Amino acid sequence: MTYLTNYVLEKTNKPLTELTNEEIYVQLLDYVKEAAQKKEKNQSKRKVYYISAEFLIGKLLSNNLINLGIYKEIKEELAAAGKSISQIEDVEPEPSLGNGGLGRLASCFVDSMSTLSLNGEGVGLNYHCGLFRQVFRNNQQEAEPNFWIENDSWLQPTDINYEVPFKKFTLKSKLDRIDVLGYQKETKNYLNLFDIESVDYGLIKEGISFDKSDIKNNLTLFLYPDDSDKTGELLRIYQQYFMVSNAAQLLIDEAIERGSNLHDLADYAYVQINDTHPSLVIPELIRLLTEKHGLSFEESVAIVKNMMGYTNHTILAEALEKWPLDYLEEVVPHLVTIIRQLDELVKKDYTNPSVHIIDESGRVHMAHMDIHYSNSVNGVAALHTEILKNSELKDFYELYPEKFNNKTNGITFRRWLEFANQDLADYLKELIGDGYLEDATQLEKLLDFADDVNVHQKLAEIKFNNKLALKNYLKDNKGIDLDENSIIDTQIKRFHEYKRQQMNALYVIHKYLDIKKGNLPKRKITIIFGGKAAPAYTIAQDIIHLILSLSELINNDPEVNPYLNVHLVENYNVTVAEKLIPASDVSEQISLASKEASGTGNMKFMLNGALTLGTMDGANVEIAELAGMDNIYTFGKDSDTIIDLYATSGYHAHEYYQDDVIKEAVDFIVSEALLSFGNKERLERLHHELITKDWFMTLIDLKEYIAIKEKVFSDYENQELWSKKVINNIAKSGFFSSDRTIKQYNEDIWHS
Ligand SMILES: *Cc1c(COP(=O)(O)O)cnc(C)c1O
Repeated sequence: MTYLTNYVLEKTNKPLTELTNEEIYVQLLDYVKEAAQKKEKNQSKRKVYYISAEFLIGKLLSNNLINLGIYKEIKEELAAAGKSISQIEDVEPEPSLGNGGLGRLASCFVDSMSTLSLNGEGVGLNYHCGLFRQVFRNNQQEAEPNFWIENDSWLQPTDINYEVPFKKFTLKSKLDRIDVLGYQKETKNYLNLFDIESVDYGLIKEGISFDKSDIKNNLTLFLYPDDSDKTGELLRIYQQYFMVSNAAQLLIDEAIERGSNLHDLADYAYVQINDTHPSLVIPELIRLLTEKHGLSFEESVAIVKNMMGYTNHTILAEALEKWPLDYLEEVVPHLVTIIRQLDELVKKDYTNPSVHIIDESGRVHMAHMDIHYSNSVNGVAALHTEILKNSELKDFYELYPEKFNNKTNGITFRRWLEFANQDLADYLKELIGDGYLEDATQLEKLLDFADDVNVHQKLAEIKFNNKLALKNYLKDNKGIDLDENSIIDTQIKRFHEYKRQQMNALYVIHKYLDIKKGNLPKRKITIIFGGKAAPAYTIAQDIIHLILSLSELINNDPEVNPYLNVHLVENYNVTVAEKLIPASDVSEQISLASKEASGTGNMKFMLNGALTLGTMDGANVEIAELAGMDNIYTFGKDSDTIIDLYATSGYHAHEYYQDDVIKEAVDFIVSEALLSFGNKERLERLHHELITKDWFMTLIDLKEYIAIKEKVFSDYENQELWSKKVINNIAKSGFFSSDRTIKQYNEDIWHS
């Protein structure tokens, strides 16, 4: 069977063998787009609009081929022509439309909505430079614009456009779409990305700085532009309003087209608000229904309430958006009137100021508006939802217990197993068949092999081959020399103090000093980090600097480097994750308990047979329940204790700093050895922060962390025990399929 050969011959008059990888990539792009064109759009009366500021979609070529059910065939056809599919995959730029877990989740969700044949689409913005590209210079992070859009791309222009009115001008939008194919389905959905015609790259100056006030030319230039000053904050409001006004107009148009008279709009549409960035969709829909379509205010409010669901992603106070009314007045005065009315309705019913939308200083609490004017509020893991109900959003839970529900996050197994770990996927099919692709819980059949030494052996072999593949990737792309014979211990995620990369770095220091003292590990350990830090987040940049400095020191020390290596992989993104996760032995999930809402990286590692070393936080709790406490490594204070410590201001870093082991590791940050080539200001600031403030309580769990990590490495030496744990983890990971998550959203919230 040939798919590509004839197609290519017809289009280019050349045999496959004569095309370059770049040319083949373009042919495949067209081939897939044509195949997608033949598919019908999913239909149902009620359509779901998943509005999100981010979609961290990753490369699409191979994922689409898998979903079309022709990946293997194309791979073999290419191989027969002397071409390597992985080299062709390398040609595709990774879209830069997302930042981290929240954006990756949105991407897994659109994949699952299509796979379940739901009428559900993503709506967002088409940022031309997206999130910055991370480069390291002098052991520090620098940010560069990431131009990812090429002439040949997955984006498909439409003739859909809307007028979006701001106070000072009106902008005309345009809509580009990306096809979202379900796994072996005859139907498809779209990812809708709104944009403006007039983006001007000339505005970009040094790094990623640019004129933030020139809205008509910068609106869709960057994702999360620096908002540390007022023009930056205003730009974010411009972006958010542009996104939701387009979404609302699209939704109304499509509903009318399908027969809605707008009084019944809620039967035709449901909006899932992914975090608070799309919250302005609530007043905007009310505005459109009243001003443009002549419905009464009361009726519009009632309709909107029945078609909104809000997903909360964080309990970090600084991440809950609160826009000053004055700012909204400058950008969207026509919404301010409505927001004030919505707030009045709340204040009439409830005197408690903690549930008001507009606070005493005139700031609009976006999450509060979402909760009052939606019919569903969900957290993203069991523990997170309990914390929302019992502490963070307690006052709201008392008002609306029926709105609160949990939807534990998930990941698409097509990308994170079928594609990323092809050898493991093939082997699983040999053992248990391919039923798990449609019903992930069938992975439990693997438990039958938990004690089978042949299976153990084979799994270890696959892991080793993945390490070799990673070694090649890191050598060719990242300037890193990986030792494939070492234990690979990986922490990849955005840099944030609550995720505690600094605690892992302190372990590295501890281990380094221990090796210097002559306590040599049985087997070499490689600690890998990856992640970006927000450019305005100084301490996170300092942590990156510490790790890069440690990496230089340790990897070049001949006394230590036979036993310990440390790497920080530049520009962590989906493509890097796809290489790192299948090769890892240990999954670092060490956030301060109560702070990580769910995590999804933890699920990807579990599925790929890495053992979790984590706190009882986010979805780690559910991983522990499913895999069994014997099959993961947990440590640290629990979330109740931490929440209590915050409530009573009971944590004092300097008390922990008195401990000899802790002091030795922490003080090494400002040792001669590091200062001799590190940046003094950064290292001293980080050291000072850790011993005086340490808001995310690094030191409280450090000793336990060091102890459990030693246990992990010694357990690894018992390969039979280790493999058993690995099998238990893979077998129980089916729960974390995003197909399960989306089924629950649909059954409990969307009713599509
Ligand atoms: C999965 C993923 C994340 C989220 O990781 P967490 O460990 O859950 O924070 C972030 N970035 C990328 C590229 C991912 O693939």
